[in-house]
Amino acid sequence: MASDPKPSFSFLFFLLLSVQPLIFCLSTDAPSPPTVCIVGSGIGGSSVAHFLRHYFHPTPSQPNPPNIIIFERRSVVGGRMATVPIGGETFEAGASILHPKNYHAVNYSKLLGLKVKPPPASEDDDSMSLGFWDGKEFVFKSLEVDSKIPWVQKIVSYYNSLRLFVRYRFSLLKMSSFVESTVDSFLKYYESPETRPVFETVDEMLKWAGLYNLTTRTLQDELVHLKISPLMIDELVTVITRINYGQSVSISGLAGAVSLAGSGGGLWAIEGGNYQMAAGLIKSSNVSLHLNEEIESISYLGEYYELNSTKGNSYSCNVTVVATPLDEVNIQFTPSVSIPARKLQHTHATFVRGILNPAYFGLRSVGEIPELVGTLEDPDIPFSSISVLKQQDENDITYKVFSREPMTDALLGSIFSARLETVRINWGAYPHYKAPEVFAPYILDGQHLYYVNAFENAASTMETSAVAAENIARLILSRYFSEAHPHSSNLKSKSPDAHTLHADL
Ligand SMILES: Cc1cc2nc3c(=O)[nH]c(=O)nc-3n(C[C@H](O)[C@H](O)[C@H](O)COP(=O)(O)OP(=O)(O)OC[C@H]3O[C@@H](n4cnc5c(N)ncnc54)[C@H](O)[C@@H]3O)c2cc1C
Repeated sequence: MASDPKPSFSFLFFLLLSVQPLIFCLSTDAPSPPTVCIVGSGIGGSSVAHFLRHYFHPTPSQPNPPNIIIFERRSVVGGRMATVPIGGETFEAGASILHPKNYHAVNYSKLLGLKVKPPPASEDDDSMSLGFWDGKEFVFKSLEVDSKIPWVQKIVSYYNSLRLFVRYRFSLLKMSSFVESTVDSFLKYYESPETRPVFETVDEMLKWAGLYNLTTRTLQDELVHLKISPLMIDELVTVITRINYGQSVSISGLAGAVSLAGSGGGLWAIEGGNYQMAAGLIKSSNVSLHLNEEIESISYLGEYYELNSTKGNSYSCNVTVVATPLDEVNIQFTPSVSIPARKLQHTHATFVRGILNPAYFGLRSVGEIPELVGTLEDPDIPFSSISVLKQQDENDITYKVFSREPMTDALLGSIFSARLETVRINWGAYPHYKAPEVFAPYILDGQHLYYVNAFENAASTMETSAVAAENIARLILSRYFSEAHPHSSNLKSKSPDAHTLHADL
């Protein structure tokens, strides 16, 4: 057997001399930019990328902006912001409405040049006709006048507001001041980053804005405490929480206030689909986007994380951000991470092009059925809401039905007298809220593994995801990119920026 030739000493010496300049050259070069990997391309993941770019400032130890990779298991970006085609048109299938004070979304739409529009009539309480269905009859039904004349519509709208006032009296005002004060507290998250702390936990973040206590009590308890009438809690409030979160008034006070805020005036959406916010942010943030690539494991290997995908690819990431709820995804963490058990509320969104059956509601004509049918809390009612998305003509209307269980053909057959097209989507929609809430950590491993959706236990909206993402981006910059010690998890006291940011804590 021939033995391997051994290199002579003079050859090794020559080799060493020849590579020395190269070694020197590598060691004096600026460090290669770190890689931040983000799992999930929804508003959370795309906002982390956006704010990392927005807030990054070069420092001598980190002169280069990070490489950012976003992994998305689906073939499109946006996550729970998605559209559904029906009858040759597209409608929002998931997140559909934005509040006028959702300032990150407002800024995104301006920055990305997206066109803003009001949501469909049934999702904007100014112009819809509304009914509360108790399973047998409409306990409240707004007056509807078939007129396109603006002043007639205005008078009808005032009349309906008056009827609501007569029914719920001062409870209406108490509810709106509860919602306003919650929104005002939330606005603290838009204060200047110069004076606003970076938060390492959701609890800290909520306490700082004065919102934490609302997560310790149910919405029902909160409203009873505010002396809001049982009738209003059982009707109007219940209808809204069932539409927005598919749940009862046992959700936390904070999720409840957010849900109620989503039923006010001035609501808006992005023309063509809210998902364009995520698509635009990813594009403008110079991100390497890996579509159709599901991450199945995340392992901490000392200085970096190894991410493995179902495509058989491996990626080395200095920082990893999980921007999807971990409750129903199958990611293997090494070492394992510990988060409080949380159930997702499933919402079945069923889109039907056809015509409702008035007899199901004990009515004589379709025109008598309100554009938005909300429901009271009764396990025998098989849907949470039915709303008109678009009326093509008298016998061809596109509806959206929300329910907690799938809508079977037999059930749809009894609610609709004709169906031309039906599309069903089963969403793992938002957390099943409870009180008191327990929050998962933002920093999953004490190192550089972050979790945006820990904030979802406070409330789940496009804007709350963006607010949580902004905090995570600042957390990454203060913990990983600060000048003092890139790999220390205790950076904040050493970094001048971070020091300012934490001064208020
Ligand atoms: C029916 C419905 C109605 C809603 N209505 C509203 C509303 O009107 N207004 C509002 O503001 N909010 C609404 N919401 C809530 C809102 O959609 C969410 O709070 C928000 O979109 C969450 O964004 P996210 O980026 O945190 O998560 P997601 O949008 O869920 O994004 C997570 C992404 O991660 C991807 N992913 C998951 N696992 C992996 C993996 N292992 N590898 C790679 N990719 C992965 C997913 O495919 C997904 O694209 C609604 C939600 C639903 C379901």
